Amino acid sequence: MRVKRVYSASDLFDARLLADALDDVRIRTHLFNANAIGAMGDLPFGETWPEVWIADDRDLERAQAVVAAHASRPASRSSMRCAGCGEDNPANFDCCWNCGQDVRGEGAGRPAAAGGRP
Ligand SMILES: [Zn+2]
Repeated sequence: MRVKRVYSASDLFDARLLADALDDVRIRTHLFNANAIGAMGDLPFGETWPEVWIADDRDLERAQAVVAAHASRPASRSSMRCAGCGEDNPANFDCCWNCGQDVRGEGAGRPAAAGGRP
C-alpha cells in the first residue's frame, strides 16, 4: 500500500474537483502543492501544479477511471446550482451530489461524449 500520484491539475479548483470525485467512490486522496509553492524541492520551476495522489495504490485502476472521466469532462468550469437544495454542483455532474436531483435540466443536449468509444 503506497501513495501514488494520479493527476496533475492546472489549478487548485481542478485538483479539488478530482479529489471530490475520487472521494465519491471511496478512494482516499491527498492533495500536494495545494498551498506551498516549491514544497517539493526537487521539482523544476513551474512544476508545482497541484497534484492529486491516492493513499493506496491498490485503488489505482479505479482512480484512473475517475481521472479519465474527469479529464474528458467539458472544459467549462461553471457550476450548476441545484434547484432542489441550492447546492452548487460541478458542471460535469448529472445529479446533485447533495440531494440527488437532476441538475442537467437546462444544460442537457450536449454531444454524446460518453459512449462514443469504438
Ligand atoms: Zn440538491
